[in-house]
Amino acid sequence: MSAVVLDGKAVAAEVTEALRVRVASMSRKPGLAVVLVGDDPASAVYVRNKSRTAERIGLRHWQLTLPADTTEAALLAEVRRLADDADVDGILVQFPVPSHIDRLRVVDALPPDKDVDGLHVVNAGRLAQKREGFVPCTPAGCMELLARTGVSLRGAEAVVVGRSDLVGRPIARLLEHADCTVTVVHSRTRDVGAHVARADIVIAAVGVPGLVKGAWIKPGAVVLDVGINRLADGSLTGDVEFGAAAERAGWITPVPGGVGPMTIAMLMANTVRAGAAKG
Ligand code: NAP
Repeated sequence: MSAVVLDGKAVAAEVTEALRVRVASMSRKPGLAVVLVGDDPASAVYVRNKSRTAERIGLRHWQLTLPADTTEAALLAEVRRLADDADVDGILVQFPVPSHIDRLRVVDALPPDKDVDGLHVVNAGRLAQKREGFVPCTPAGCMELLARTGVSLRGAEAVVVGRSDLVGRPIARLLEHADCTVTVVHSRTRDVGAHVARADIVIAAVGVPGLVKGAWIKPGAVVLDVGINRLADGSLTGDVEFGAAAERAGWITPVPGGVGPMTIAMLMANTVRAGAAKG
């Protein structure tokens, strides 16, 4: 393997330690409310990890677990209650929510200044216009990892595989703001490999194991694998053929232990910012 493996766990630990020190110096500790609807095991793990990290850095935090048959109206009522609660600085609703609930209606109910996941249309608009706002946590984590490589982003060719509101679109914006030349490819793209092959920076955010072939990777490229896919044997794998890609890439993130931990670290950073804004 020639690539440097980017240790997201270690970088996330550095980021959260700096936040812990900062929170210790704040007289009013920022407060994070996490809402989980249903009993999806993966979501339960994510929520538990978020609560643990919040505890470790000294945030006030609350976890609200609602049954899978919670109505949309009941969830919206809870979100509005948290929106009105002056103790709560950040609200995170863990997605996916059960299919009878409209995800966008839930996102719309979040006050933009408590939307620490950066999903509200106001925060998406702020990002599009390069204005101050909350940036979605996974894309923000990717940018932090890219910064750690020391690779210059100015003029670099970046290819983002996937165009979701959660990952693909916002990371494309951030890369463009950092002066990359950005191409976004998706399920209707004619030849994904041809685009990836000319990329200095590849971000894979698809949800298909091994979709990005190692042979596509330009020698020396930075490869960030956002995908989290559970295989039949219970193990986790990304969207990139890790072994073959690591032979060619300059830097690569593993799954697990790459982008995932950074997502939580950035959620904490956003919450501390939300709390600090209130003084
Ligand atoms: P999503 O909303 O399902 O979006 C997937 C994107 O991939 C879509 O834009 C889709 O294109 C595209 N796509 C699907 N098949 C493709 C193909 N064959 N070739 C090229 N593009 C294809 O997923 P997401 O929320 O962005 O998440 C993506 C992955 O990242 C998932 O594995 C998820 O679990 C993981 N994730 C990880 C973290 C983390 O913390 N590490 C955070 C969030 C998500 P269309 O738009 O054309 O349908």
